Amino acid sequence: MFSLAHKIALVTGAGSGIGRAIAETFARAGAHVLVVDRDAGAGETTIEAIRAAGGSATFAVLDVSSEADALTLASAHPEVEILVNNAGIGHVGNLLGTTAADLDRLHAVNVRGPFNLCRAFVPAMLARGRGSVINIASIGGVVAVRDRLAYTTTKHAVVGLTRALALDHSHTGVRFNAICPGRVETPFVKARIAEYPDPEKAYRDMSSTQLPGRMARPDEVAAAALYLASDEAAMVTGSCLMIDGGWSAGK
Ligand code: NAD
Repeated sequence: MFSLAHKIALVTGAGSGIGRAIAETFARAGAHVLVVDRDAGAGETTIEAIRAAGGSATFAVLDVSSEADALTLASAHPEVEILVNNAGIGHVGNLLGTTAADLDRLHAVNVRGPFNLCRAFVPAMLARGRGSVINIASIGGVVAVRDRLAYTTTKHAVVGLTRALALDHSHTGVRFNAICPGRVETPFVKARIAEYPDPEKAYRDMSSTQLPGRMARPDEVAAAALYLASDEAAMVTGSCLMIDGGWSAGK
């Protein structure tokens, strides 16, 4: 239903999980996708899958925490009209289990990353009067997640960044939205589960937090991104779309 034909979309962290699903969904909707990841092997796997399915994609290796590299990428691709800031990292720990270095590490990727990419790519969108920026925040961007101090802090910042951008650049034709997934079955979550003493119990516990009693699939998040990227979402800016099975609705 939603077409991205003739649009160029950049997805960070597109070598795995949610970012990969978004890149594949956008390519199926007709976009040319600039797949961005710090892991060259993972990014190549995504573009091979897109091309095998008849889609169009190119790959660029980038660590989103580097402002200079983001600016260099933007000067090579000024035509990007859809920017998905998806790359993110996690850390398990409350205050006693979180060092300043942990917080800085998450901040550099989860907050400075989207900021850097916006600084690099949004000026051309503003000049054209057209664009859609989608920041992948988290349930941890709107409510606290237990034992995820640094993650919750940085994801709240992503929601704040999105709202500030939407407010400052309203009436420009460039829209800024966040998606807040609950738990999604990806390598990111599997790695956390493996850290628990009883991974099977941890999997059951994490799945039961969400009302349908299961984790979301990456393609269920990608469908939301497709809507927000599309022209049908022309009236939607500054929103945080929850894909959390009702987790944040209350208990
Ligand atoms: P993932 O670990 O499966 O994939 C993340 C990808 O980002 C990897 O390919 C990795 O190489 C890349 N990446 C990491 N740091 C990078 C950097 N500095 N520069 C460029 N690329 C980098 O993760 P995922 O589960 O698909 O999560 C994607 C996003 O969704 C993250 O922002 C995460 O916080 C958010 N999120 C995930 C869940 C979940 O349950 N999986 C829930 C809510 C929000």
